[in-house]
Amino acid sequence: MSRSLRRALGSMLLLLALGVLALVVGASPAQAQPGLQVVNVYSARHYGPMEQVLQRFTQATGIEVRLSQGSAQALVERLRAEGRQTPADVFMSIDAGMLWIAAEEGLLQPVDSALLRNSIPNSLRDPQDRWFGLTQRARVIVYNPNRVRPSELSTYAALGDPKWSGRLCLRPSSHIYTQALVASFIALHGERVTEERIIRPWVRNNPRYIDSDTRILETIAAGGCDVGITNHYYVAQQLARNPDFPVRIFWPNQNEAGVHVNISGMGVTSAARNRENAIRLIEWLATEGQGATPDTLPGGNFEYPANPTAPVNPIIAGFGSFKVDPIGKFEYGRFQPAAVRLMERAGYR
Ligand code: FE
Repeated sequence: MSRSLRRALGSMLLLLALGVLALVVGASPAQAQPGLQVVNVYSARHYGPMEQVLQRFTQATGIEVRLSQGSAQALVERLRAEGRQTPADVFMSIDAGMLWIAAEEGLLQPVDSALLRNSIPNSLRDPQDRWFGLTQRARVIVYNPNRVRPSELSTYAALGDPKWSGRLCLRPSSHIYTQALVASFIALHGERVTEERIIRPWVRNNPRYIDSDTRILETIAAGGCDVGITNHYYVAQQLARNPDFPVRIFWPNQNEAGVHVNISGMGVTSAARNRENAIRLIEWLATEGQGATPDTLPGGNFEYPANPTAPVNPIIAGFGSFKVDPIGKFEYGRFQPAAVRLMERAGYR
């Protein structure tokens, strides 16, 4: 077998192993045509409405978006393996930590764009402008109002109180949302306090681990748990379908540092062959496209926009205002390995 054939087979097997699913947004031939403007996106978002948003971008600019989907971890693994050969122009993640890791490994390049600097607040983008947050997702305490009074709730750490023993639903440690949350605790309090005052007390309460925020909410609604931690937009999705859905949001740590907020965001890959189109996509999503993000589409994703001038969906506006912790989003990547080790040590499944 020739070396190049072996290499091609190897990368095919790798893609299969990573379970990466590729699709093209909109009806279009898979092969490049002369003069056809394209941008190739590796996306860790797999929400249907995202495709509608990208179709709007294509309508607005004539640039076709080719989307390959997978978990953030799988896509970074793929970028590493492909190196300079990657077809990806853009990496889109649902977590600042993976964007930071990709940037630190040299997989993303800085973008010098006044439009992006003016549209996206400093706190939501890389200090070196290698990635930009486009939407915000708050990780909140959720509870069943028939079983819990909001006055019983206060902080993430207080979910370790023995009164919540057997009543707590959590996402497993393998999920990026949990890793980013625990990384933010380490950034705020250090490893020792995070382990002894937050994670070990949670584990002592014998939480039920459920690897889906939606199923955590459904379990709380059905009385299988009384409290849990999920992203805010899953609650909004349920309320959009059923305004009487029996789960409420509680904004944690409002008398302390504030609530943990992650981003979904994008960076241009170092090997991008369609660099200008990639920048246009990010600029469009950060400005005009903010009004067409999944938050404002019917049946959409209900995240908070990153651009402070963009409209906010009424359902999530109804959750009220809240204080966000001051931790730089890039810290989620820096402390991610320590967060994973800490949870393992503490017996967090
Ligand atoms: Fe999500």
